[in-house]
Amino acid sequence: MQITQQMFESYLHCPLKCFQYRDGSPAQVREYSEWQRQVQHEYEQSAWNRLCASFPPDKTFWGNPAPTDFQSHRYKLIGQYRIINAEFEASLNAVQLIDLNIGGHHRDTYIPLRFVVREKVTSAARLCLAFDALALSSACGQVPHFGKIIHGQSQQALTISLDKLVVKVRHTISRIRQHDARNSPPPLILNRHCHECDFQLRCRATAAEHDDLSLLANFSEGNGSDNTRRESSPSRNCRIHSGRANA
Ligand code: SF4
Repeated sequence: MQITQQMFESYLHCPLKCFQYRDGSPAQVREYSEWQRQVQHEYEQSAWNRLCASFPPDKTFWGNPAPTDFQSHRYKLIGQYRIINAEFEASLNAVQLIDLNIGGHHRDTYIPLRFVVREKVTSAARLCLAFDALALSSACGQVPHFGKIIHGQSQQALTISLDKLVVKVRHTISRIRQHDARNSPPPLILNRHCHECDFQLRCRATAAEHDDLSLLANFSEGNGSDNTRRESSPSRNCRIHSGRANA
């Protein structure tokens, strides 16, 4: 199964959401999440333009360069680099060529860059950067040891060590694949992400099918108070197992 950026990031918020995307379940794009995407998109454009200005124009490229140019490291900065293969589907905000010095031996290598509009760099953002690194390794043959997150109003660059994060990403991908192999999507579990999730209506319908009034109560519009993750409770009030067809 191909793991997409969207599936991976969703899994960090809610495992079921990852499988909603895998199955192409119809989502209802909410006004709030649409606004968030727009703000993030504008930030990515702004961060790219600012970064580009610090490189010679003939050393930057937008999109995927010719494979020979990529292999020969013709460009120092590449924006919106897409990776699509049997394992991954990812669109990296940017990759930057850096001179890696390991024990006095210099080697040029591409590292992933992420542009994050938020001021705070969350653990999810770090893991998504590590996912980008893993996807990038499928294109350039080795996993980068670090990457950068450019974040916040001042577009500050934070260098992130990736080795431990990549281990966690591999573990998460393995869990996703296990669910896929068993053809058993994760159960519906309430979590703090529900109130901003595009699948809220679908999950509400699933809850209604199971006549689970307590679960529905937690889906009430604008309810941010009951946002505690309840993974520990086995009660059917909180967990509903869904098959692939009706997740
Ligand atoms: S509405 Fe909640 S339970 Fe359903 S997919 Fe979204 S985050 Fe997961």
